[in-house]
Amino acid sequence: MEPAIIVHGGAVKFSGEKVGRALEGTKNAASRGYRILIQGRSAIDAVQAAICELENDPTFDAGTGSPLTSEGDIEMDAVIMDGRTLESGAVAAVKNVKNPIVLARMVMENTPHCLLVGQGANQFADEEGVPRISKEKLITEENRNKLLEFKSSYGKAVMNDFSTRDHDTVGAVAIDKDGNIAFGTSTGGITNKRPGRVGDSPLAGIGGYADNKVGGISCTGHGESITRVALAYDIISKMKYANMTIQAAADEALSEMSEKLANAENNFSAGVIGIGKDGVPVYSFKTEQMAWAWARNGKLHNGVNPGDDDVYSVEIDSDSTLIKDD
Ligand code: ASP
Repeated sequence: MEPAIIVHGGAVKFSGEKVGRALEGTKNAASRGYRILIQGRSAIDAVQAAICELENDPTFDAGTGSPLTSEGDIEMDAVIMDGRTLESGAVAAVKNVKNPIVLARMVMENTPHCLLVGQGANQFADEEGVPRISKEKLITEENRNKLLEFKSSYGKAVMNDFSTRDHDTVGAVAIDKDGNIAFGTSTGGITNKRPGRVGDSPLAGIGGYADNKVGGISCTGHGESITRVALAYDIISKMKYANMTIQAAADEALSEMSEKLANAENNFSAGVIGIGKDGVPVYSFKTEQMAWAWARNGKLHNGVNPGDDDVYSVEIDSDSTLIKDD
């Protein structure tokens, strides 16, 4: 099987200068994961490495750069899933951890559980020797200001209005040379969320899914809306039971989501990335923009707007060189 990886940096309208950072960040993450795949390593390793790269990049809403809760805290959610065994591991509302995706993988590999939350997730992190990081190191000035602006413009009256918020969560789906598919998603959630609020992201079947026999998906967008339609498994079901291609299934599921939630109080669109068992990466989004990058056959594709497609050649012998094609 030709290895491939696709990553996203959230379904969102990026503000001006953030577009360049989002392109750069997704490109670096896809390149990092792809190099792991072409060394012959597993889809799970590639997904974890790509997501760590995105969590460490303050441009995105995951790890460093997570948005603040209404109390000014950082609570993060992450999931990873192995499509070979259908095993998954996740953490939710976890604090003071640099890379929640690494902890999610520890849940998958070192516990009999699928999801650990809050204090229990942090207790597990301590037991596994995961170093604690102060919340100040995870908070960016931009996100501190965003919470202040949010509170001064909207106050408590419209606590349910999510329309002005970023949705720059991160995710990755990979297929390795053995045809094994994995997915991961990681997020700090949404600005001014209630303490303890968990969206779609850490829920296997909702914010993503991976099954070698069908494909892998990672979602981004308004978590409560994605949860209402069980977006990831809706796409998997269309492929599994209606024999749809992953592109057709993703497009249709997103359109149906917009129709079904047209009258809902918080009708917000979403975006998805995926790889079917044929190994071809796809993406689809209903928001104005979604940052994405995918790599296969020595080429890396990158974009933010509908119709974008910057193409690079991956220098296999180098750790990081990407040469832009004309
Ligand atoms: N889905 C995430 C959440 O609601 C947000 C995002 O995708 O950016 O927590």
